[in-house]
Amino acid sequence: MNESLASRLPVPGIIDDLIGIVGESGVILGDDVAARYPGYFMDRIEASAIVRPRSTEEVSRILAQCNAVGQPVVVQGGMSGWVRATQTRAGEIALSLERMNTIEQIDPVNRTATVQAGVVLATLQDAVAEHGLAFALDLGGRGSCQLGGNAATNAGGLRVIRYGMMREQVLGLEAVLPDGQVVSSLNRMIKNNTGYDLKQLFIGSEGTLGVITKLVLRLRELPADNSTALVSAESVEQLAGLLRHVDKALGGRLSAFELIDSDFYEVNTGDGRHRPPLAHGSAFYALIEAEGTDAAVFENALGDALARELCDDAVIASSVRERDAIWAIREDLEHIVRDFQPFLAFDVSLPVGDMADYMTEVRARLLGRWPHARIAFLGHMGDGNLHVAIGAGPGAPHAEVEACVYEPLRRVQGSVSAEHGIGLEKKPWLAISRSAIERDMMVRIKRLLDPRMILNPGKIFDLTDQREA
Ligand SMILES: Cc1cc2nc3c(=O)[nH]c(=O)nc-3n(C[C@H](O)[C@H](O)[C@H](O)COP(=O)(O)OP(=O)(O)OC[C@H]3O[C@@H](n4cnc5c(N)ncnc54)[C@H](O)[C@@H]3O)c2cc1C
Repeated sequence: MNESLASRLPVPGIIDDLIGIVGESGVILGDDVAARYPGYFMDRIEASAIVRPRSTEEVSRILAQCNAVGQPVVVQGGMSGWVRATQTRAGEIALSLERMNTIEQIDPVNRTATVQAGVVLATLQDAVAEHGLAFALDLGGRGSCQLGGNAATNAGGLRVIRYGMMREQVLGLEAVLPDGQVVSSLNRMIKNNTGYDLKQLFIGSEGTLGVITKLVLRLRELPADNSTALVSAESVEQLAGLLRHVDKALGGRLSAFELIDSDFYEVNTGDGRHRPPLAHGSAFYALIEAEGTDAAVFENALGDALARELCDDAVIASSVRERDAIWAIREDLEHIVRDFQPFLAFDVSLPVGDMADYMTEVRARLLGRWPHARIAFLGHMGDGNLHVAIGAGPGAPHAEVEACVYEPLRRVQGSVSAEHGIGLEKKPWLAISRSAIERDMMVRIKRLLDPRMILNPGKIFDLTDQREA
């Protein structure tokens, strides 16, 4: 059999081996594989089978077997990622964590939750709220993304400015190495400086070094109250001043500072869409939220900001309904996806002080090339994280649009991926944000833990010598 044909088929006999481990109901085959993915799902799915283990032991046996015969495996969480990291080729096996969805323990005394990796984020948020506790990570994909996927991507989201990214929420972790060995590092303490912090290797490694099967997560007290406002401003510099002001005035309780530019605001608050809480016509808007702060302190902070001209107008939500309405303007992507067809979304990171020039440069590059292109900026400004939404028009080569967004990051040493990872989508641009020695170290760690290269092959980097790349 020639090599290209062989690589389109799984290793002979492996499907039977997998059925032997998880049973017939645990393996999905044939046309049922593609039928499981919703129409909007962007990753191409050509896997020969989806195997759905129920326990760490089953994951271990699956990987040991696949490793023994050199069978490539792609790990699938909730598949809410945006960088084609769960894309599978024909001949690969997808390993789905969907049946490993048990919350094993919520410990109110130590404020920890122990979960299997396939638990959906929103499920944990709801479960811990019943104990008066909160899980700090929150993001738009909460209804489908899994905690294992959140860890594998080191997810960020809407409250990073207050609580940090997923990395800061994980106390302990269990992972299965590509050869089937189980690394159990289920630490439950905040402090534990006993040598290398091995869990960090798996967090953010996008499933290339091991399959995360279990997590011990840090919980916080459920905040008594939220205060939420929408403000308008004329410049990013003005908003940068406002960010510092509210952070200080709220005494560390600022939990979200989300930028929305006029293009995004007008798309989402156009006729028949969301009602605009503030008039159109400002260059920028920002959603500001504080958790657990007194409403009067929040109001004073904003009143003071208006007096000092750090924003031009402000509206404070006076009910949960009004809060949700403001958040919907920030989170609803349906209208922009429809208006900007073909829609492209980018997620970059750069110092707040460089944001204004960056936005100007990206806009100029894009409109210089496609004068009728549409562009909007939004994102977690408090974390230095911008999302760029672009509709460059039919036929605009993807790589040329990407260059408009990523090339200006070189000058400010920004990151081509603030939150979503690299996957396949950003692989060609990794060198903008990571040096040759850094990329070389990543490859060496990969080779050490996955010498047969069976896990998520081709994701993040190709296994060429990165010094030459
Ligand atoms: C509307 C919307 C809004 C979003 N907003 C944000 C946001 O604000 N911030 C943010 O960070 N992300 C955001 N995302 C992206 C996405 O939700 C996150 O990247 C999330 O962490 C992915 O989790 P998942 O379970 O869907 O992983 P998947 O998409 O299934 O997988 C992502 C990567 O992790 C690997 N992986 C998954 N599970 C495991 C495991 N158990 N062990 C090892 N590897 C694994 C996969 O192989 C793949 O490489 C958003 C998505 C949507 C749809």
